[in-house]
Amino acid sequence: MKLSELKTGESGIILKVLGHGGFRKRIMEMGFIKGKEVEVLLNAPLQDPVKYKIMGYEVSLRHDEADLIEVGPLPAPSQDGADSPQSFEPDSADIPRRQTKNESISIAIVGNPNCGKTSLFNFASGAHARVGNYSGVTVDATEAYANFEGYELLLTDLPGTYSLSCYSPEELYVREHLLEKHPDVIINVLDSSNLERNLYLTTQLVDMHLPMVCALNMYDEFEHRGDALNIDTLQMLFGVPMVPTSFKTGMGVEDLFRTAISVYEGTNAVARHLHIYYGHEVEDGISHIQKYLKQEAGLAARYSTRFLALKLLEHDTHIANIVRHTNAENARAILAARDRASARVMEETKVDSETAIMDSKYGFIHGALMEAEFRQGTKADTYRITHRLDDILSNKYVGFPIFFLLLFVMFQTTFSLGQYPMDWIEAGVAWLGSFVESHMAEGSLRSLIVDGAIAGVGSVIVFLPQILILYFFISFMEDSGYMARAAFIMDKLMHKMGLHGKSFIPLIMGFGCNVPAIMATRTIESRRSRLITMMILPFMSCSARLPIYIMITGTFFAAQYRSWVMISLYAVGILVAVLMSKLFSSLVIKGEDTPFVMELPPYRWPTTKAIGRHTWEKCKEYLKKMGGIILVASIIVWALGYYPHNDALSNQEQQEQSYIGRLGQVVEPLFRPQGFNWKLDVSLLAGVGAKEIVASTIGILYADDDSFGELESLSDIADSESVPEEADKFSRLQSLMAADGITPLASYAYLLFILLYFPCIATIVAIKNESGSWRWALAAALYTTGIAWLVSAGFYHIGSIFF
Ligand code: GDP
Ligand code: MG
Repeated sequence: MKLSELKTGESGIILKVLGHGGFRKRIMEMGFIKGKEVEVLLNAPLQDPVKYKIMGYEVSLRHDEADLIEVGPLPAPSQDGADSPQSFEPDSADIPRRQTKNESISIAIVGNPNCGKTSLFNFASGAHARVGNYSGVTVDATEAYANFEGYELLLTDLPGTYSLSCYSPEELYVREHLLEKHPDVIINVLDSSNLERNLYLTTQLVDMHLPMVCALNMYDEFEHRGDALNIDTLQMLFGVPMVPTSFKTGMGVEDLFRTAISVYEGTNAVARHLHIYYGHEVEDGISHIQKYLKQEAGLAARYSTRFLALKLLEHDTHIANIVRHTNAENARAILAARDRASARVMEETKVDSETAIMDSKYGFIHGALMEAEFRQGTKADTYRITHRLDDILSNKYVGFPIFFLLLFVMFQTTFSLGQYPMDWIEAGVAWLGSFVESHMAEGSLRSLIVDGAIAGVGSVIVFLPQILILYFFISFMEDSGYMARAAFIMDKLMHKMGLHGKSFIPLIMGFGCNVPAIMATRTIESRRSRLITMMILPFMSCSARLPIYIMITGTFFAAQYRSWVMISLYAVGILVAVLMSKLFSSLVIKGEDTPFVMELPPYRWPTTKAIGRHTWEKCKEYLKKMGGIILVASIIVWALGYYPHNDALSNQEQQEQSYIGRLGQVVEPLFRPQGFNWKLDVSLLAGVGAKEIVASTIGILYADDDSFGELESLSDIADSESVPEEADKFSRLQSLMAADGITPLASYAYLLFILLYFPCIATIVAIKNESGSWRWALAAALYTTGIAWLVSAGFYHIGSIFF
């Protein structure tokens, strides 16, 4: 029977994992191995993916992945004969150790995603790196110093990995860091509510023969649940000192560092080098390969030959390449030895060497836990509340409605609650402008400061409160664990678009600001899904476009239609994104889809401190963008409109004969099919710097002579929807624009263009950074603008037939 055939609530025993390569390996590393019990917990609302319980934790798999796992019925309860953990002390260490002793110790923090690595890092160093109840948050290594008992500890926070194979870029990254940078000590952080799986990585670190300490983290939850474990026994069995910790409270951190130092100094009584026993055939193979490896002095000096031999037997391509780069003759001999050894393992055990090694590792862990009398407590199951919540939040019928309700509440709160502080900031900016105006002599410098810098940056800073609120919600969803569920329930729909459930989160963030959203695509493991997500993200209408929507809909459409016009814009953006994503996934960016193996962490109530910190970090990005690119762009737009300057002219005439006016007239023929005029064209050009500038440019270009500058205050316009006496501002703008030949049809075409075209310089730079090449960034810039042009021209022409 296949795992996919089990119904919700049923359990089975895993007989075999089919499939091959990275998928199979990954699935097995996640704990889907022969003889383990697996239970079907929950179907996503669209029946796919499905949440399973294995080894006491929960993962989701897609239906067609579960098809590749064979299960059988549960056996009658019997005494589980523990595979007693087998390990032995090697005759002599075969790796040269660094003996230099100095006052600075480099410590690498390694562990599964979501086990608390970054929390430790922050706690120890006082740094504010990003923690989140969501896997894949740390992607690069972050470094910080901490002083501890006379030592300077150089801590490196590495990305979370389940294993050290070369399956994902993170795994390779961590492995290379450990192999090439030779940290003095490794701190292996374990989630002790999930020991069996977390120890898998530990066995690999043991293979690598590196000095290390394990932090049994989340010990608070461990105790809370009433779990039991004889830590002394476990650490002896692994030859690795283990320290119970809780990085939430800081419990055990000092003890952990003290132990790390003792390992470094070589005075730790527990730390010893041991070899996990992989069974007769594999062990034979290892020593066979080792013979050849040892002849290659360069290799033997840099790496543990046992580790290399093991990795070769696992058919690790990266290690095979390292071997290939040595002396050609030796390399051939080594690889031939590997092939002979793995053929023998296959012959004698009937499983491939990779599986044999993995089975032995889990056997070792299982046995060690049995000997250490590990018992799962029942007092308070971390998952109990989680299950209750999941029954509701991932439910077939109410899962989606709740999700969309949450999104609605998020956006609603953002815009309504954000209005108040927005008004205050608005008033502050206006005050500052008039203050400077009345205290400076008239001239170009005053105009530069008031009409350029203050007006430009002011029109952006007013959105800060809304951005703050939006990011508060997003941080809350990430830290509580709900984001993972959002990805879980959206996976099927996303899959239809050629994306991954995880793509959904960046897409939602895109409604706030594309820049952090592009950065958030890092959580997507598959490069293909990542690229597609980045390429369609600009169609998620970011909040910077909102002022211009408000301004134009307020000007051209009657009050009762305005919301619909707005909603239609968002809908068009999403529709185009879906279509482009399908196009990309079927034509342009081809490749294998990565399996949807995502851990669903238990729900946790996030701490206020963490939420505050995350919200602030995201806002900082936004402020940075504003201080730099928007200030520069505002000043450029101002200068282009101010020069060549002629005091005798009215504002309108001045604009027309200025550089910006001339530029607008040059590009005018390009936008004739859309029914735009040169002023709209200019605003579009200005929007290349940042979308916020579009509205302020329109404000400047359409300002009455007597009320110059008034219209550039954006929230005035946004406000006037609710404040009747200000509504005449819209009618004034409308009469000005209508006199200029802009029809409502053209105005909607204009909105469509704004929605779809070139996101903004900051987003393009972010795409360049995240994709690693200018190629993708330029492609995104060009193709979005092309689509915008086609869609708006098409709309204008077809619309002209009817109206
Ligand atoms: P990383 O992915 O390994 O870097 O993990 P993080 O440091 O981002 O932590 C993941 C989540 O676990 C966060 O919500 C932390 O607040 C939480 N956390 C970390 N350590 C502990 C702990 O000892 N006890 C509890 N209850 N929660 C913890
Ligand atoms: Mg982290």
